[in-house]
Amino acid sequence: MADSVELGVPFSIFTFPFSFDSMAEAGSFAERVKQQADIVRVVGEYVRLKKTGKDFSGLCPFHQEKTPSFTVSPIKQIFYCFGCGKGGDVYNFVMDMEKCEFPEAVKVVAEKCGIAIPRQKERSPEERKENQQRSVLVEMHREAQTFFVKQLEGTPEGKAARAYLEDRGLDKDTIARFGLGYAPSGGDVLLRHLKNKYNEKLLVDSGLVSRDQSAGRLFDRFRRRITFPISSESGKIVAFGARALGDDMPKYMNSPETPIYSKSNVLYHMDRAKDALRRQDFAILVEGYMDAIAVARAGISNVVASCGTSLAEAQIKLLGRFTRRVIVNYDPDTAGQSATERSLSLLLEQDFEVRVLALPPVGNKKADPDLFIREMGTEAYLKLLKEAPPYVDYLIARARQMDLTTGEGKQRALNFLLPYIQKIPNGILRSEWATRIAQQLRIDEPLLRSALSKAAKERRGEITTRPELIGRAAKPVERRLIRMLAEAQGFRQELAKHLQNARLYHGLETEKIFAALVIASLSGQPVQATEVGAVLEERDRRLLFEILFEEANEPTWEEAMSCIEALQHRQAERELADVQRSIEANPAAPEMRGLLEKKQELMRRLAAAR
Ligand SMILES: [Zn+2]
Repeated sequence: MADSVELGVPFSIFTFPFSFDSMAEAGSFAERVKQQADIVRVVGEYVRLKKTGKDFSGLCPFHQEKTPSFTVSPIKQIFYCFGCGKGGDVYNFVMDMEKCEFPEAVKVVAEKCGIAIPRQKERSPEERKENQQRSVLVEMHREAQTFFVKQLEGTPEGKAARAYLEDRGLDKDTIARFGLGYAPSGGDVLLRHLKNKYNEKLLVDSGLVSRDQSAGRLFDRFRRRITFPISSESGKIVAFGARALGDDMPKYMNSPETPIYSKSNVLYHMDRAKDALRRQDFAILVEGYMDAIAVARAGISNVVASCGTSLAEAQIKLLGRFTRRVIVNYDPDTAGQSATERSLSLLLEQDFEVRVLALPPVGNKKADPDLFIREMGTEAYLKLLKEAPPYVDYLIARARQMDLTTGEGKQRALNFLLPYIQKIPNGILRSEWATRIAQQLRIDEPLLRSALSKAAKERRGEITTRPELIGRAAKPVERRLIRMLAEAQGFRQELAKHLQNARLYHGLETEKIFAALVIASLSGQPVQATEVGAVLEERDRRLLFEILFEEANEPTWEEAMSCIEALQHRQAERELADVQRSIEANPAAPEMRGLLEKKQELMRRLAAAR
């Protein structure tokens, strides 16, 4: 009697578990990967998880929070955030995290779990060609790396370069460890080395070779420079950085954007810093390769460099997968200061905990990390690192360097600080700032607070939609039955029949959840919480996930039956109330006899159940 239309369940549920177009595309491979993948391991690469009972929990990557409400269940292979309501399976997580489509998410999960991805016939010829081109370019970079290293080791020109490096305190081991090389001055030495194997287009696409605009002639991009291989997060060389040996300009030069390299997506030394970042749970962010190398060889491996460009949002996201605490240690010159301040803004927006290390001058020289460690030693550097002040103090100190004797000066200082305050997502922190700034800059506090709250209001994205709270608590009996329908492999099909035949969930606040689960259970396939959730309204989806994450005992058939009895009882009570209302509404109605009989019968049933 109850068909799907009456239950308000979209028809598409009959085709699940794989009802999405994209699902069909990736097909059974996606199912296989999902079965083999461990959601805890995959999520654990993005979120630091702690075991709490049977589940794992951590700080939600999808909303800002200080106490963990993000939960992952290894048993159910799903995640759910009690704060913002995001939830689903390993693919939903990766799609949200990487901002990618389903097929891409399958690929990501397969790669993370070491599952070989089958050659895809459906891949378009263009895609195949692009992939092929990318692997050829990576191969070319590997050859270029070998070439540069040989130049540094074995040529007279290279010897001069080596002397320069030694002069900067880089010994043989360090040069080998970081793969430093030398690009000779000839102009086409690398080109001649590569051109037998690669065609002109590939050579130009690699960025290792440039084309002379007027003559159309090819030549080496890097000439008479020390080379630093730049690797992707996974350790493949995708670009080079190069430092001029003499006074050539520019002093530093990078590979251009290529099919395998986008400077805003890569952090120098990231491939080697990953483990230390996780272990130490903070990163030291420096400007250049030389700084990163200096810090890393002092035994501090959790260092990455933004590589001459100002820090990009993609780089911050990359870093955020390993830690959300950063000590910014840029050069102390004006360019470094403004780079520091730009980075601060971005890091604060992403809710990083930021400290700033501004190194004191060595003698009369302004010190970058490289110089400081060479002159003052590792111990001194470590000490300053430990004492690095929170960014607030750094910024206030910068503001205090301004002329604060006049009202205008104070206004300028305040204007310098306000943009940072606008970016702090946390209201309590913003308020703490106010007090400190008022004290340190001697500004009238109420005046400052009104400026602050104005600034806060102007903050873009301030109005975050508060997730609707699940105010209604479904009754325990309903919760138990929902859980059983989702998980009791042994008898959920049987249970679903009972529930459907007696229309037991009609009129309940959980009706739609029941309806979806009953259909899923009757299909005989394993219930996929994510897919059931996908056909539900947001409120219902969240309620379902919350129920799935409740502490619960193993379900038994006896318990299921007693829950059903309780529902029957409630149903009888509701019917009785309805009958009573009809009787009272029109005592002279012709159907009165029937109503009275019905009332008697319901009362008998309720009495028997007692
Ligand atoms: Zn959340």
